[in-house]
Amino acid sequence: MRITFLGTGSIIPTARRFASSVLVTRGDLMLLLDCGPSTLEKMRVLGVNPNHVAMLLITHFHVDHVSDLLPLIKLRAFDEKGYAAELPSQLLIIGPTGLKRLLSHLIEDIGEFSYLSSTLHCFDYVTLVELSHGQGLEQLGCQVSAAAVSHFNGLAYRLTVDGKSVVYSGDTVPDERLVKLAAGCDLLIHECSFPEGMLLGKHTTDAQLAELLPRIRPKKTAVVHLYPVWEPREAELSEKFASLGYDVMVAKDLDSLEL
Ligand SMILES: [Zn+2]
Ligand SMILES: [Zn+2]
Repeated sequence: MRITFLGTGSIIPTARRFASSVLVTRGDLMLLLDCGPSTLEKMRVLGVNPNHVAMLLITHFHVDHVSDLLPLIKLRAFDEKGYAAELPSQLLIIGPTGLKRLLSHLIEDIGEFSYLSSTLHCFDYVTLVELSHGQGLEQLGCQVSAAAVSHFNGLAYRLTVDGKSVVYSGDTVPDERLVKLAAGCDLLIHECSFPEGMLLGKHTTDAQLAELLPRIRPKKTAVVHLYPVWEPREAELSEKFASLGYDVMVAKDLDSLEL
């Protein structure tokens, strides 16, 4: 399984980072975790066809995690030459409660966007599944488990493919439900929005994450959702975790690793 970090920052673009998205591939299978702004542009740079994404897991509905959703849905109605696709590939979108209401509002209620449904028939090829805390499903050879986290109506996910497990926190404060979900995972992708002493909003600092790691005991960790304040302090961040004995990658956009 290959993990490619498409977006590792916040809504504020920096030299190395922009909003949230992670691409997961295993053979022909392609999944996305969140699809913030620039997700499609990053895929274009990598030469990845977004129509091959079979499943999208959305952690919550903040703009920096979902804004490429409508383009991702629209472009699937077309083939690579720009003609109407004879048989658009299926896209399974999984998200917290409210996913169906959000899509219905965007696509059915907003007249300017309603052609996505009435003309492009997007709901023939898009399936929406809402999960809540403790629920999961098995699709496309992947096992997905969800846990609620304390960030609006956020969900964290544990994704298991071929016996390897990835846990993605989305945005959250340190949360016991995530500690349980992530226990012993192969890769923990956890937000680390701000340095200790500079925390804003419902997020996690480096010091808080350092307290979680010995309890979760992931084989490897990648920190994402870094606000611009981290950019000149990246070495400090990775040295801090290394000095504590943790294998932590300070991910930047387009980094990737093999599990
Ligand atoms: Zn958020
Ligand atoms: Zn966010």
